[in-house]
Amino acid sequence: MNTNLFQLRHIGPRTNEQETMLKTISVDSLDQLIYETIPDDIRLASKLNLAPAMSEYEYLNHINELAAKNNVFKSYIGLGYHEAIVPSVIQRNILENPGWYTAYTPYQAEIAQGRLEALLNYQTMVCDLTGMELANASLLDEGTAAAEAMALLFDVRERAKKKAGANKFFISEEILPQTLSVLQTRAIPIGIELVIGDHTKFNFEDDFFGAILQYPGKHGQVYNYADFVTAANEKDIKVAVAADILSLAKLKAPGEFGVDVVVGTTQRFGIPLGYGGPHAGYFATKDEYKRSIPGRIIGVTKDVDGGRALRMALQTREQHIKRERATSNICTAQVLLAVMAGMYAVYHGKDGIEFIANKVHTTATTLAASLNRLGFKNKNTSYFDTLLIEVEADILRPVAENNKINFNYIDKNHVSISLNETVGLGEINDIVDCFEQAFNIKDIIVTEFVTEDAIPSAIKRNTSFLDNDVFNTYQSETDMMRYIKKLERKDLALNHSMISLGSCTMKLNAASEMLPLSNPQWGNIHPFVPLNQAEGYQAVLKNLEHQLNVVTGFAATSLQPNSGAQGEFAGLMVIRAYHQANGDNHRNICLIPASAHGTNPASAVMAGMKVVVTKTDEKGNIDVADLREKAEKHKDNLAALMVTYPSTHGVYEKAIKEVTKIIHDNGGQVYMDGANMNAQVGLTNPATIGADVCHLNLHKTFAIPHGGGGPGVGPICVAPQLVPFLPTNPVVATGGENAITAISAAPWGSALACLISYGYITMLGADGLTNSTKNAILNANYIKERLQGHFSTLYTGEMGRAAHEMILDCRAFKEKGIEVVDIAKRLMDYGFHAPTVSFPVAGTIMVEPTESESLAELDRFCDALISIRKEIDTATKDDTNNVLKNAPHTQEMLTSDVWNLPYTRKQAAFPLSYIADNKFWPSVRRVDDAYGDRNLICSCNPIEDYMETEA
Ligand SMILES: *Cc1c(COP(=O)(O)O)cnc(C)c1O
Repeated sequence: MNTNLFQLRHIGPRTNEQETMLKTISVDSLDQLIYETIPDDIRLASKLNLAPAMSEYEYLNHINELAAKNNVFKSYIGLGYHEAIVPSVIQRNILENPGWYTAYTPYQAEIAQGRLEALLNYQTMVCDLTGMELANASLLDEGTAAAEAMALLFDVRERAKKKAGANKFFISEEILPQTLSVLQTRAIPIGIELVIGDHTKFNFEDDFFGAILQYPGKHGQVYNYADFVTAANEKDIKVAVAADILSLAKLKAPGEFGVDVVVGTTQRFGIPLGYGGPHAGYFATKDEYKRSIPGRIIGVTKDVDGGRALRMALQTREQHIKRERATSNICTAQVLLAVMAGMYAVYHGKDGIEFIANKVHTTATTLAASLNRLGFKNKNTSYFDTLLIEVEADILRPVAENNKINFNYIDKNHVSISLNETVGLGEINDIVDCFEQAFNIKDIIVTEFVTEDAIPSAIKRNTSFLDNDVFNTYQSETDMMRYIKKLERKDLALNHSMISLGSCTMKLNAASEMLPLSNPQWGNIHPFVPLNQAEGYQAVLKNLEHQLNVVTGFAATSLQPNSGAQGEFAGLMVIRAYHQANGDNHRNICLIPASAHGTNPASAVMAGMKVVVTKTDEKGNIDVADLREKAEKHKDNLAALMVTYPSTHGVYEKAIKEVTKIIHDNGGQVYMDGANMNAQVGLTNPATIGADVCHLNLHKTFAIPHGGGGPGVGPICVAPQLVPFLPTNPVVATGGENAITAISAAPWGSALACLISYGYITMLGADGLTNSTKNAILNANYIKERLQGHFSTLYTGEMGRAAHEMILDCRAFKEKGIEVVDIAKRLMDYGFHAPTVSFPVAGTIMVEPTESESLAELDRFCDALISIRKEIDTATKDDTNNVLKNAPHTQEMLTSDVWNLPYTRKQAAFPLSYIADNKFWPSVRRVDDAYGDRNLICSCNPIEDYMETEA
């Protein structure tokens, strides 16, 4: 046997274990199991047509060869992206550490206090620098954050009576081009009229509900927005500002102008350029909008013992949970990148951030003075890091490129040059040399920095920031390393045990898939470089698109969306464009089964569609009669069906082809939510079931780690008729010939993260991918079998099989006073993260083991659940002082001098023998969500501040 196959590393159960498991579930072979699971008429006839699998060694050679094809220039292009230095201590201990990158979104707060604290630091940093009251724990990028700001202001406009019905939004012409494009995409379907212009000439008319400004402007000019904001406030026009986070260390905080929302990216806080992403977008606003904030907010609360604890605040109000009433669909965000950016601020501290901002500014003024000496004028009268130089671009450009330098070429006579923290005198001289060579000017050598200041005093920052202890304590590497470790130890990630979250596919994120991310040949490429500098990237992205086409059976792929929910929005916008191209502008009805994920209806509404919910029958399947009736009723206006396959109930619905045909017969297109693609790869595909477009969650099925809640990549794959409409980018054209405007800021979304999925597919090949799917189904059915008699599975296929996940019904335990959260918290004592709780059915848990878990781990998990089931049997409704209600149990509690609970310490913390060998201690006791929501604190103020707020 070739033991070098990557699939043997990726798939958990050994061959002999697979046989044992097959016996347990009473089938002869994996193929027999698949036959009993996936309906015949959608099974693929042949193997995926992919290149032969590479070994890990071969792949690493291959990816390094491609990396060498990227030509890394010094990029001074700016436009929202700047080369940054990733502190090595952060790179090694976070970016390259599975303890951080394999964690899940911190829904189970008691085993996620580490990343919750890291995110609270991030929010504090954003609040401080922007001068706002509240920040969320990241959005996808600056462009989408700006679109979220617009959507929020549109949503809250009704509160200002004067503004009811106002639908115009002003965009300063200084906005970044990609942000403008994303704003256009989001505005049009929901009826917002955009007016783009010069902010100094804006008339503040009554039919405007909001405006957005760029700070500094796209070519570096810094404006004083005080008058604009005052005038807008008088007219009740709400103002958002897209601000460069580093510049805010020197510039007056937007909050001081009285703006309503501040957005931007934290990329330049120690995150690689990565050809466009992933980076954390930030979003900060006023307390009064806390109920309307998109994304997740981390807040302070207490646990049952009164100790300080963190958790996701206002959790039940996460936007997409409002379904068709949501104003945003964001789910996966950019947590790992937010953690890194927050840590950058922790490590540099207040003084360090000030130093970096001063240094960047000084290099800019020095360069301006030097170019001025050569006769080149900087047109920016007030600037932070970017010069706008009058120069013949056609002459400068070839020389600069010859010297491996990129500027932003605006037009024939203007270039902008944006400096960053990597620039010193050497780089300044290199830039100056380009001008000298291009225009045959006599050499000057810049030998010292000029200390002149290009920021007028009226917009100079004179308020403090990052004063909190956390930003002023960890400046030595030893301290920093230990701080990161301290937080990491509080979090349960995949490097401790299985995380069986249904619908989330927490599979192995292999080291060989991750290694290339640390290579600066991938990290240091600006998204807007000429294509010939990014040949390595272009090869990977094209290959990955091809691989995903093969896997889905579709004609083309857009890698631009950087989350599943964004893929949904992109796919629906493509469908919308298709209908419009056919003259069917009126087609706006979107059918969505009741069991769908909340992002589905939220995305449909964002795409300007009206949601019609279709019923699910008692077996959990789409009620075909109801669907047909609704499709026919709306046939003149039917736009689309959104369907998840296999369903969120974990079933391969037999009627799927009939369902997709009904939609087509009535003029609609079929959108398949690909979150469950791990149950399809190599065995069936969306094209075969009759879908027209799907998104894939590369961070579920294709091995991008969840990073504690992001990054994600949510490409859409489409049938031939939709190819022309795939999204473009205003700076580097992508997509189809009738492309819709941008979905996210960067042309290929989070290109750096795409390397992971490319590695996954390349190393598994057709056989490895298909075997992964089969083993995912095997693992799920094994768990189902082992839990028989203890937990009942809510839905199964026609032959009694689960798909790759199953729903365990816990509703009957209510009679014993036990809720599903009690089971979730008790699992922590057994060393496991809870499965998905109460989705898609309230009072249940949804288990998805993935193919990566071995038999031994599956057995430990089943043993834990069976043991918990016995504990449930002994519980009673009247006595809540039991091991389930008190879970989780902390080390502090167990080792305390007093113990007067009606069970032993061993029963509390070591109920099964396997636990002692690998005990995980939750760091806080059960958190009090309601308390924290009543006393919302979302930045790391001193502890006394929040204890006093208790009403
Ligand atoms: C995860 C998921 C989504 C949303 O994907 P994100 O990447 O989190 O935006 C949508 N639908 C289903 C069924 C999912 O499981």
